[in-house]
Amino acid sequence: MTEREATGGAPVVEITGLTVSYRSAGRDVVVANEVDLAVRANETVAVVGESGSGKSTVAGTVLGHLRHGSRLAAGRVLVDGQDVFALPPRQLRALRGGTVAMVAQNAGQALTPSMRVGRQVAEALRGRGLDRRALDAAVVELLDQVRLPNPAELARRYPHQLSGGQQQRVAIAMAVAARPRALVLDEPTTGLDVVTQGGILRLLDTLSSELGLATVLVSHDLGVVASMADRVLVMRRGEVVEEADTERLFADPRHPYTRTLLASVPRITDGGLVEVGEDGGRT
Ligand code: ADP
Ligand code: MG
Repeated sequence: MTEREATGGAPVVEITGLTVSYRSAGRDVVVANEVDLAVRANETVAVVGESGSGKSTVAGTVLGHLRHGSRLAAGRVLVDGQDVFALPPRQLRALRGGTVAMVAQNAGQALTPSMRVGRQVAEALRGRGLDRRALDAAVVELLDQVRLPNPAELARRYPHQLSGGQQQRVAIAMAVAARPRALVLDEPTTGLDVVTQGGILRLLDTLSSELGLATVLVSHDLGVVASMADRVLVMRRGEVVEEADTERLFADPRHPYTRTLLASVPRITDGGLVEVGEDGGRT
């Protein structure tokens, strides 16, 4: 965990009593049950739990996303004081492209293949009202901020000319382009090889500190969680079974399910990060 500025003030993300369900065979299936989650600036809160426990459901609600067929049965999601599920569509779009950003699993692979990288990043900067020259400069600055080498040259390449790690860095650049206050990371390194993961995680950790973000990190990888998160929520079948500061959770897991999760990890190294990092970024 890196040194962080003191956290404080009102939470940027505040989820209370979140209950999400969907109809199946004539009955309600609850995928998130009375979940509470608060994240302040300069803070990273991880959501862990086995596949299907409701992690992505909870994380998605920070951007006002609900899977098709799901509904908000109860609770509230506030981002920067705005009630996400009460926002009119236009303000919700503004929230998504502004206050909150998301990096999903394999986000780098979702870049538009036929469009140069620089142009895609420029689109993410649209809201800033920059003229052509300032926009070009801002694109290079962003690619530099995500530690991509030769950003001016790289901006002219197409996604397939980049490594997987570099593509993910571009996706991260696009996510932070609008200077968000909150960042949702849903398995941001799953699918990348382990060496590349280390570089991307260090980048995300650095960026969250540099930008003072309130970060929600979904991961099934407890090594990742140990290295990045200040606090951890453990979910099981839609319920939060334990919430604790990261150190306490790993040192003294209290819920049997948390113990089972921890026991399934071979070894948590100090910091949890792979220290080599040749993913084509400068790490
Ligand atoms: P996680 O990210 O922890 O793997 P998810 O939040 O993606 O879990 O999903 C929780 C569970 O709810 C999964 O089993 C998923 O298939 C199910 N689910 C969520 N929404 C719906 C829906 N609208 N219809 C059917 N199944 C759903
Ligand atoms: Mg998920």
